[in-house]
Amino acid sequence: MGQAKRKREQGGRISHCRSCTYCCVLPAIGPLDKPMYRACSHLKDRGCGIFGQPERPAACLAYRCAYLEARETDSPEKNKIPHPLEAGAYFHRDPVENAIVLFVDPARPEIWKMSIIPDLLRPHIESGTVLVIIDRGRQLLVKSASILDEILKRDFVAFANTEGRPLDHSAFAEEWKEPS
Ligand code: SF4
Ligand code: SF4
Repeated sequence: MGQAKRKREQGGRISHCRSCTYCCVLPAIGPLDKPMYRACSHLKDRGCGIFGQPERPAACLAYRCAYLEARETDSPEKNKIPHPLEAGAYFHRDPVENAIVLFVDPARPEIWKMSIIPDLLRPHIESGTVLVIIDRGRQLLVKSASILDEILKRDFVAFANTEGRPLDHSAFAEEWKEPS
């Protein structure tokens, strides 16, 4: 998380992350006792303050969002996946579950819907991958393209009750969960 930015500080190549710090701020990170939406205490102006040090968790060492992964592996998707700051969101494929996890910037929650991200993720959903959207503290499991379409049409979190279920959408009732 945020690892490439540190290389710039150390005189290495310019990072594909640029000024993004989403993955060091948005998710909860257990080994760091870091809650969701709070910047990691090790995050400094130009990246990870403990980059290259043994206390840096393995999860951070291994982490790359889909954008960074595509750039670093020179994958065919490298020019398709938008930079997280442009999309207001980032995503990665869960290494264990057949799932893709999308973290939405709570300050700009609608931007990703107008980006190419839905078009990129739709074929994965249609082929059985679950999309997990984490948006303003709520977690939605998207298992069908039709649910994705509903989400694209409306600000579903604004319509949600305290259990994370849209008040006017019974179809979501079985799919909504509070974040763990
Ligand atoms: S979300 Fe992606 S682009 Fe942003 S800091 Fe993390 S790895 Fe880099
Ligand atoms: S330890 Fe470093 S890479 Fe990991 S979340 Fe904190 S600032 Fe980011």
